[in-house]
Amino acid sequence: MLNVKTPDEVYRLVAQTPFVSTPVQMVPLAQAGGRVLAKPILAGEYVPGFHRSTVDGYAVAASDTFGALETIPAILEVAMEIQMGKSALGPLRPGCCAAIPTGGALPQGADAAVMMEHTEDYQDGTVGIYKPVAPGENVIFKGDDICPGKEVLAAGCTLGAKEIGALAAMGILQVPVRQRPRVAILSTGDELVPVEQLPGDGQVRDVNGAMLAALCQSLGAEPLTCGIVADEAGCLETALEQALVQGDMVLISGGSSVGSRDATFRAMEAQGPLLCHGIAMKPGKPTIMGSGGGKPILGLPGHPAAAFFVAELFLPSLLARLTGQHLRRYMFPAKLAETVSANHGRAQYMGVRITGTQEEGFMAHPIHGKSGLISLLADSEGYFCIPRDCEGMAAGETVYVIQYS
Ligand code: AMP
Ligand code: MG
Repeated sequence: MLNVKTPDEVYRLVAQTPFVSTPVQMVPLAQAGGRVLAKPILAGEYVPGFHRSTVDGYAVAASDTFGALETIPAILEVAMEIQMGKSALGPLRPGCCAAIPTGGALPQGADAAVMMEHTEDYQDGTVGIYKPVAPGENVIFKGDDICPGKEVLAAGCTLGAKEIGALAAMGILQVPVRQRPRVAILSTGDELVPVEQLPGDGQVRDVNGAMLAALCQSLGAEPLTCGIVADEAGCLETALEQALVQGDMVLISGGSSVGSRDATFRAMEAQGPLLCHGIAMKPGKPTIMGSGGGKPILGLPGHPAAAFFVAELFLPSLLARLTGQHLRRYMFPAKLAETVSANHGRAQYMGVRITGTQEEGFMAHPIHGKSGLISLLADSEGYFCIPRDCEGMAAGETVYVIQYS
C-alpha cells in the first residue's frame, strides 16, 4: 500500500521531521556569497559613522533658515568648505553655514542641509537661502542605517549581493555560514549507462545524475555523484548505506514505484521509516521520502522530467532543513495562453515559456509532452501548478509562474 501524501502534507513533514544540521564554518567575506548565514549578525559600529549630507549645498542650523522666502532669503555667512573624507575644522557658529558636497560630514552645530538649487552665492562670502529646511532634512545622522547591537542579518538568510554589502559596511571580514550540504546522488536502473557511453539497444544514458548535480549546485549544495546502481535490493542497500556515510542527504532516482524491479523503497525502508511513498502530483507520483541516521533520503521517479519537478519542488525545503535557510519563492503573474485540462486528483505542475513584457503583461505558454521528455522542459522559464481539485484552467486565466531554482 502506498502512503500517498499531497505536496502540502509533504512540505509539512519536511518541516517537522528532525534532520541533522550541517556544521558552522567561518569563511572570508569574499567567499560568503550564496552561502547561508549560520548566526545572526549584530552590528558593532554605527553606519554611517558621522552625520552626512545627502545633497550638494550648504550645511546649516535649520533654525537659521526658518521663515526664508524666495523674496526674503535668509542670508548666511559661508564659514567653511567641507572636504570629502575629512571632518569639519570646527563648529558652525550661529548665522553661518558650510559648503558641503553629497556625503560630506556635517560640522558640529549643523542639523540640516539646503540644496544648492535653493541658494544663491552672492560671491562676497555669503549665500542667500530661498527655502527653509526642517531639522534632519537632507541629512542622514550617525547610526541612521545601523546602530551597535542591531540585528542586521538574521540567521538563515542567504547571502546575496545586498547582504554582502551590509556585512562590508560593518567591516565584517569573517562570516559564520553553514557548511554546504553534501548531496549523494545515485541513479538506479539496469538500462542505464554513464553519459560518456553510447547506449546500446534498450539502454539509456543516466540523465538524472548530471541533472540533479546541477540542481544541487544552483541550490548552494555540493553534489557527490555516486553513479549507477543495479536494480537490485541488495546492491541498492549497500550503495545507499555508503551514500549516507558520504553525504548529508541522498537523492536516488529510479525504481521508486512498487513494480517487481522497484527496489528503492525496500532499500530505503532498511534505513528508517518512510515519511511517504507517493505524492499526489503530476508528474512525480512515485516519489519516496525517508531518512537514515537523521539524513533525508529522497527517492525520485526515474523519468527525468518527473525527477526534475519533484527535486525542484522538495529539494530546496530539505536542504533548508539542513542549513536553517529561510526560503524565498519568486513568482509572477501571467495570463495562460491556452486552455489546459487536468482532472487527475493530483496537483499538476506544468512548465511554461514566457512571452510579453511587464507593461503589456506576461503570457504563459504551457509546455506539452510526455513526462519523460526533458528536452521540452529545457525550453521553459518556470512552472505553475493546477491544484488537485481543479479540472483545468482556461486561456486568459491568471496563473502564478514560479521561476526555476
Ligand atoms: P523508473 O522510475 O525506474 O520506473 O523509470 C522510469 C523511466 O525513467 C524509465 O523509462 C527509465 O528508463 C527512465 N530512467 C530512470 N532513471 C533514469 C536516469 N537516471 N536517466 C534517464 N532516464 C531514467
Ligand atoms: Mg527503473
